[in-house]
Amino acid sequence: MRFLILSDIHGNIDALDAVLARAPRESYDRLLVLGDLVGYCANPNEVVERIFELEPDAVIRGNHDKVCSGVESADNFNRIAGEAARWTIKALTPANKERVAKLPSGPTNVDKDVEICHGTPFDEDTYVFDEDDATKALDAAHRQICFFGHTHVPVAYVRKASNLTVVHPQPGGPETTVVNVLKRSRYLINPGSIGQPRDTDQRASYATYDSKKSRIEIRRVPYRIDLAQQRIVEAGLPESLAFRLGLGR
Ligand code: ZN
Repeated sequence: MRFLILSDIHGNIDALDAVLARAPRESYDRLLVLGDLVGYCANPNEVVERIFELEPDAVIRGNHDKVCSGVESADNFNRIAGEAARWTIKALTPANKERVAKLPSGPTNVDKDVEICHGTPFDEDTYVFDEDDATKALDAAHRQICFFGHTHVPVAYVRKASNLTVVHPQPGGPETTVVNVLKRSRYLINPGSIGQPRDTDQRASYATYDSKKSRIEIRRVPYRIDLAQQRIVEAGLPESLAFRLGLGR
């Protein structure tokens, strides 16, 4: 089984389309989407429609999906994120807002080996930033391989017995980082963010998993950042959201 794993698209259609051009429908069997389809960038409707057209096998909500569809208030958001959420609530069509509001919360068991969540398997909004967080998340995971998002930083935590190894793809490095899946190890993998990467690498980030080859790949794809930035500015969204795309943080 070949999986395509997408996370934290955040209304960035230029980045999403660049990823989908690199990972066309015939290149995978199952599509998994880890939440935060909208919020921050200027094309939330296009992103929601594109994702639903692809009929994902599993899709869950992120914290921005909740706030931007009115499921939750923006009280926990910083000023810029709150401003973007208010813009997105107005921009989403009623039909798309309803689709976003109805996204289920994670975690979701995809099959006997794979699970997805937005933040962690024990709480959809909790961040995994370091080894301690990763240990708690791995303790709570239901499957050998758990894909998570939320931090916008691609990373692989690999636990064998009590030994935890961390693999950080090098910012600006090769387009593909390979993680081989071994029977006795457990995996907590962040594919990184498509729409707003924060590891100082401005390229869109996503992952693939081929269960037959026992191989996970975290992949980077360049896209037209200038177009995404222009759309953000023209939409009247905070300009800092355009600026940070160029920094990759
Ligand atoms: Zn996010």
